[in-house]
Amino acid sequence: MTTPNSVPAGLNPAQREAVLYLDGPSLVLAGAGSGKTRVITQKMAYLLRDCGYMARNIVALTFTNKAAREMDERVKTLVDPKMAKGLIISTFHSLGVRLLREEARNAGLKPQFSILDADDAMAIIQEMLATTDKGRLRAVQSAISLWKNGLVDPDEAERTAATAGEAEAARVYRSYNATLAAYQSVDFDDLIRIPAQLLASNDTVRERWQNRVRYLLVDEYQDTNVCQYQLVRLLTGPRAMFTAVGDDDQAIYAWRGATIENLAKLTTDYPQLKVIKLEQNYRSVQRILAAANSVIERNPKLFEKKLWSDLGVGEPIVISPMNDEETEAQSIAMKISASRFERQASWKDFAILYRGNHQARIIEQALRDLKIPYTIAGGQSFFDKAEVRDVLSYLRLIANDADDPAFIRAATTPRRGIGQATLQALGTYAAEREVSLFEAVFEQGLETRLQPRQIEPLRVFTEFIQRMQWRAGRGVEGRPPPKAEPAGPLLDDLLGAIDYERFLYDTMEERPAQSRWHNVLELVGWLKRKAEEDGHTLFELVQHVALITMLERQHDEEEPDAVKMSTLHASKGLEYPHVYLAGVEEGLLPHMGKDDEEGDPARAAESLAARIEEERRLMYVGITRAQRSLNLSWCKKRRRAREDVVREPSRFIEEMGLGTAPQGADPASHLSPKERLGMLKALLNKRG
Ligand code: ATP
Ligand code: MG
Repeated sequence: MTTPNSVPAGLNPAQREAVLYLDGPSLVLAGAGSGKTRVITQKMAYLLRDCGYMARNIVALTFTNKAAREMDERVKTLVDPKMAKGLIISTFHSLGVRLLREEARNAGLKPQFSILDADDAMAIIQEMLATTDKGRLRAVQSAISLWKNGLVDPDEAERTAATAGEAEAARVYRSYNATLAAYQSVDFDDLIRIPAQLLASNDTVRERWQNRVRYLLVDEYQDTNVCQYQLVRLLTGPRAMFTAVGDDDQAIYAWRGATIENLAKLTTDYPQLKVIKLEQNYRSVQRILAAANSVIERNPKLFEKKLWSDLGVGEPIVISPMNDEETEAQSIAMKISASRFERQASWKDFAILYRGNHQARIIEQALRDLKIPYTIAGGQSFFDKAEVRDVLSYLRLIANDADDPAFIRAATTPRRGIGQATLQALGTYAAEREVSLFEAVFEQGLETRLQPRQIEPLRVFTEFIQRMQWRAGRGVEGRPPPKAEPAGPLLDDLLGAIDYERFLYDTMEERPAQSRWHNVLELVGWLKRKAEEDGHTLFELVQHVALITMLERQHDEEEPDAVKMSTLHASKGLEYPHVYLAGVEEGLLPHMGKDDEEGDPARAAESLAARIEEERRLMYVGITRAQRSLNLSWCKKRRRAREDVVREPSRFIEEMGLGTAPQGADPASHLSPKERLGMLKALLNKRG
């Protein structure tokens, strides 16, 4: 049936073996840049082209939507795009949504269930805890998340709670779940937990999906959690036809419940597991690879990995001490500008990576000052902006009128005579009647609680939503669902009807109003494009939007020529010719800040040593993103809560083993930002 010869060139013998192996489950365990992701795309092409697999029977799971998109494009260059149509290449979360949508009734949900984002979830928890203590709120939220990811239900959480704080969190967990159910909503963790539990408990559903998923491929396997592991296990069933690829040295999501033990578990759960190792790195020059190896060597290892590269020695790695973060940002911007010119490179060949989102703002400013185009991954989301959330709340409500958080937001933005007192009375009434806010508006009993003048605007609002629901293709009791109108005109009518533009100009200065309206138009344009490209209905669009998670807060589909700014976490799996790693300081990388972990039982319990090891893996991920050149910087002082704090270079710099001689000492490091700017201008002028 298959001949190895038909596998295209561009694979080394170990990679070929991994692609051709179909006798059972396999695991490719190998270091950064060794072609693990390439194995996955090539294997999909091989299954389609040479092994008679149907596209719809192949599922590939990646960590981010961006990675999924890239993989999809890759496969389409390897096989006839027609042949690839129907492949499921998605994140675990998107697969979860797909499964939940198809199996909604079996999971006790309506097909138009809402997906709550972290902010909505936080608001629910805050209400239950009746506290504004951010640390405590975050701690409870992350405890709930870890329980969900570990498939621990509220009963077990309560039973095993060791402290009063944990017991409280477990109680909140129970009522939080009940609230979500009442809202016909799920949170991000549920997108994996509920499918895993459904597959485990429902034989029919499990058989249906096992029949469908004939071959499963999983990228970045080291960052799966217990829930995801179960999902893989249940989807593949006894046939166990899957390939997982991963690198234990790049496990950076322990704090979200990922467990490297999933790697070990594979070998015990599948005794027939074929393990393949790759040793050649095709990404980085030797200097970069040597530095990466030297850092990661300090961590205890599961197995010996010797990565080598034949891409040449490469340029020296540059380490730049900076006075403060402003100087650092300006220096990076100037160096990129100069380097792009010298190398005749494109903006998109450069990436600036950092440990925390809070580092982004100053860097952005510096790039803007020099008119350098940039895009941010893992930063503040377009989808987090107030105006975008406003518009989306309408769409969510149209899709699922049990979504109370969306109801409250939409009903009060723009203001339409529905006040806090009205909402509160409505909320109390709805809770007593055990119905959604939306349903409560239609009940006669409400008239005993609210004045007619209070009820009137509520009814006008809900009737408006109902009309939109009808047009979007949702049947109303007794009447069959009409044909759905296309999403585009619906969106336009919606915006017109709520007069959102006027609302903006009425409530704020012209400049911010303009920029917000611009964002709304961008959102609507994007939604329309999506609706056209993928044929999504309004309902599907809403769920799609919810999936653009914390990991990739970018909605740009096409890759513009721009410098890429990204957190280290969000840079996983990607590669850039030239990498600038900012803030390589003790306390930042390794990160030791207590402000985001205080009171967080999960993190507090983690031993310091384990934390440093995870930070070291993060450093390893950062270094190994670079193909040709690597620049590191650290600041002698950094502002924290309006105070300058003295900083030391990260221990990881020394661990790179560059020696004491300044490797590629930055020739201009003695210059002030002003002098550097002058130098740069001179350089640019020389050009023309
Ligand atoms: P990471 O651990 O960072 O996810 P990876 O193991 O998934 O890395 P890939 O991204 O698949 O590595 O590959 C790294 C780079 O090397 C890519 O640009 C890829 O196209 C290239 N590459 C991989 N294998 C080969 C090969 N056999 N010949 C030429 N180039 C290759
Ligand atoms: Mg990869």
